[in-house]
Amino acid sequence: MSPENEKLLDLRQVSQTYGQGERRFTAVEKVNLALAAGEFVALLGPSGCGKSTLLRIIAGLQFPTEGQVLYRGQPLQGVNPHAAIVFQTFALFPWLTVLENVEVALKARGISAALRGPRAVDLLDRVGLDGFESAYPRELSGGMRQKVGFARAMAVEPELLCLDEPFSALDVLSAEALRGELLELWTSGSIPTQAILMVTHNIEEAVFMADRIVVMDKGPGRVVSQVKVEIPHPRNRKSAAFLATIDRVYATLAGQTEAESVELGTAPGEPGRTRALPAVDINDLAGLLERLDELPNDRADIYRLTQDLQVDSSHLLSLIEAAELLGFATVAQGDISLTSLGETFAEASILGRKAIFAARLRRVPLFKWLLSLLKAAHQQQLDYGVVQMALELEFPRDEAERQLETATQWGRYAEVLTYDDSDEMFYLESVAGPGA
Ligand code: ADP
Ligand code: MG
Repeated sequence: MSPENEKLLDLRQVSQTYGQGERRFTAVEKVNLALAAGEFVALLGPSGCGKSTLLRIIAGLQFPTEGQVLYRGQPLQGVNPHAAIVFQTFALFPWLTVLENVEVALKARGISAALRGPRAVDLLDRVGLDGFESAYPRELSGGMRQKVGFARAMAVEPELLCLDEPFSALDVLSAEALRGELLELWTSGSIPTQAILMVTHNIEEAVFMADRIVVMDKGPGRVVSQVKVEIPHPRNRKSAAFLATIDRVYATLAGQTEAESVELGTAPGEPGRTRALPAVDINDLAGLLERLDELPNDRADIYRLTQDLQVDSSHLLSLIEAAELLGFATVAQGDISLTSLGETFAEASILGRKAIFAARLRRVPLFKWLLSLLKAAHQQQLDYGVVQMALELEFPRDEAERQLETATQWGRYAEVLTYDDSDEMFYLESVAGPGA
């Protein structure tokens, strides 16, 4: 094997669980991921699928529950000295100036005091922070602080540069400028970094920058596929090759609508993975269905739709998931099409929509489960905390909370159940809802 193709990093069957006892859940399951020298890999997936967890494992900041992490063929022990992470929002020392914040990293590498100053100035220059050397972090915008973070990571001259959603806290223009600068440093070979692993939930960003995209999904977090990006830099976002790659990623992420029983999944307490509700607002869902209804053949290319509706891809994918779950749309090869039920919904009156929605909602296992609990409960009412606890057996705590919030919003819209905030109780809608 030539050194260029040498495996820098090799994750084998890596799993991570968090929590104890009944709260224990699997955040990352059996991930295999290898990175060769010369590669720029993007790790793409929805929030909560374990991307940051994997980065921390790779950097040696935490040890996985199961599996192996090899670096240059050797098991990783403790913090990985060859890796540096840039976080979404970088923690700077507030009592040090911008220049000193970068110098600290150089000092840690054993660079002599005489060289530190000029080197730090040069690094700050590269990320466009010249003139701010003597400012303190509190005087900087979020975007500028992030640039200091970049300069600091570069100062370490890491062999493996790990980036955790590095551009997501920046404004559009600074993000684009910094992407370009990083790519230039990388493609020109002017930094000693051998490989880059970048976490993102931005599909376009992944296709713009990476050579290979590792696609993850959650529940539990796992790698579901990989997409190679064989387009030379600098990449043109409007080129046919670029758009075709974006489509392939969308096709992977949005999947393919399955048979109804598979789409619906199982209820809490039943064997099999409990089907989670995508956290979407019904008004947004209605907006999507209305837009599709206006388009020729009631169908659209998902990537075009993100631009058309000006929503980010993860939000749109959640909306699409909800539409599939409720039987309003189907997905195949990166395109979404309305079903006739979806079309009926889009064209119905407000009451008509509620009735259709209620009828579909009653088929969703998590909802069926909630309704049966309510029916069986004393006075057909249940304490929020009790339901939340039951859901925490199925989902991590914050996800359980999100599930319940979504269920409440959907249930209220459908007039199937009500929730009283003052006593934190769920009630079965006493007057039969329009869908009953
Ligand atoms: P991502 O970066 O893809 O959003 P994370 O790796 O941050 O995902 O988190 C994956 C899951 O693990 C989430 O459900 C998150 O709440 C949970 N999690 C992350 N870190 C911890 C921790 N230290 N303790 C408990 N749960 C955690
Ligand atoms: Mg994260």
